[in-house]
This record gives sequence, C-alpha cells and structure tokens, in this order.
Amino acid sequence: MNCSTCDDKVCRKQQTSCNREIFDKEEVISKYKETTTSEIVEAAAELVDFGRAGSLSRVEEIMEFAATMNYKTLGLAYCYGMEQYAIALEKLLTAKGFKVSAVSCSVGGLKQSEVNAASCIHKVSCNPLGQAEQLNAEKVDLTLVVGICMGHDILLNRTLNMDFTTLVVKDRKFNHAPLQGITK
Ligand code: SF4
Repeated sequence: MNCSTCDDKVCRKQQTSCNREIFDKEEVISKYKETTTSEIVEAAAELVDFGRAGSLSRVEEIMEFAATMNYKTLGLAYCYGMEQYAIALEKLLTAKGFKVSAVSCSVGGLKQSEVNAASCIHKVSCNPLGQAEQLNAEKVDLTLVVGICMGHDILLNRTLNMDFTTLVVKDRKFNHAPLQGITK
C-alpha cells in the first residue's frame, strides 16, 4: 500500500474505504471502543479539537494529556548528551505536580563490551534496556523518550511496560529536527 502516491484520497474526501487496506476494519473499530483505547482517544482529541490544534507546544500537550489521564508519575528516558534539556524538563513537570523519574542512557555504568561484544571501544555504553527496566521497576505511568540513539530507541520502546511518547528525536546532523533530513 502507498498512500503517499494515491490520487483519489477517498478515505479523506469521502470518509469511505478504498478497499486497498487489508486489515479488519470492524475489528479496528471495536478496539477503539475498549476503555483503555477510548480514554486515550478522548484525551488526545481534547488537545486539538475546537481550534486548539497548534495552540500548545508538544511539552504542553504532554502535560495536559498526562493530567487528563490522571497520570501521577512520569519517566524521562533521555540521552546523556541531552541532559540539559532533561534537567529543564524535569523542573517543568515537577512544577506541574508530576513525580518525575529521569533515567540517563548511561544508567548502570555498563562497559561497551558488556553491551556490544563486537565493540573495541573502552568507555561507558548506552544502556536502553537498563533505562526501560528502571522505569518499569518504578512503575511510572508514562515515559517520555528524549533523544535516544537510533536502534537504542527500538530496544527501549520494546522493553518499556507502560505507555511512552517520543518528545525528542535525535538528529545530530540537523540539530534534532529530522524533518530537515527529508526536505533538504
Ligand atoms: S484512499 Fe486508500 S490508498 Fe488513498 S490515501 Fe486513502 S487509504 Fe491510502
């Protein structure tokens, strides 16, 4: 399927199926009615409906969404190289009344050789599995992913037990604005 080259866009223009999709539509619709899904759909809608789209920054959206979902504890899984932003974010979230657990990618102080047997680099390693397990053990309600390296983010996201949202995508070439890698 390639919606990016589709000319008719009947899904949008006529709010009907183009019958190119292969998933079970009724099954998907019934999943939206499940409480754990509908409460997220409703909280997300409150951020953008009635002309609100664009009025909030992503950080503001996360804080409002978390409050609507009655989340009390938030996790920050951040890249050590972005600690200045993690520090500022922790202060913002704490000021809003959330309990924050901020876990750096170097948690546990693992050596490169303990994480990557093929590595011959002798320095501390990123430890996305450790970050996830720490946040799992602390049972945070929602994790914010902040600038985790490509690949490590997959391991982190795969291992987190709770919901998570990516706040910052690391892009060292385009100052963490990956869209520029598409348009340039
Ligand atoms: S009409 Fe079908 S192919 Fe076209 S954008 Fe919508 S879902 Fe994609």
